[in-house]
Amino acid sequence: MGLRKWGRKKSPWILHVPTGGCNGCDIEIVAALTPRFDVERLGILQVASPRHADILMVTGPVTQQIRDRLKRLYELVPKPVAVIGVGTCTISGGVFAGSYAVTGPLDQVIPVDVYVPGCPPRPQAIIHGVAKALEKLEKMK
Ligand code: SF4
Repeated sequence: MGLRKWGRKKSPWILHVPTGGCNGCDIEIVAALTPRFDVERLGILQVASPRHADILMVTGPVTQQIRDRLKRLYELVPKPVAVIGVGTCTISGGVFAGSYAVTGPLDQVIPVDVYVPGCPPRPQAIIHGVAKALEKLEKMK
C-alpha cells in the first residue's frame, strides 16, 4: 500500500462544503467533530483547503449562487476524491428543488460516492458515511 493510500485510510481529511441548506446538517457535522463523538481521535480531520482534502462532505441542495464555486472546489481537490452528500437536500434538492434558486440535487453538479440520508442525519450516520467513503477510496486508484 502506497504512503498516500495508507495515510488516507488512517487519517482522512475532510473539506466541509455547505451549499445553501438550513444548516441543520452542518450542526450535526460539527457534533461529529466535537468532543461528544470526537472523530479527530480516529484521525478524521476537517481541513480548510481543498488542496489538503481526501473527502468532500457536502450539505444542502446546491443553490444557483454556490454551484460554480462547488465545481471549482471539486476541481481543486487532488484525485481520487470521495464525495459524501450529507442530508436529504443533497439527494432530492430539498423543498425548493425545481425553483429558479436551486440547481441541485448534488449529483447534477458533481459526482457523488456516498449519500447519508436524513433531515438532518445523526452524527453516527455521518461517521458511517465516512467509513463507506473510505471503502470507496480504497478501491479507487
Ligand atoms: S437535509 Fe434537512 S437539515 Fe439538512 S440542510 Fe436540508 S433541510 Fe436542513
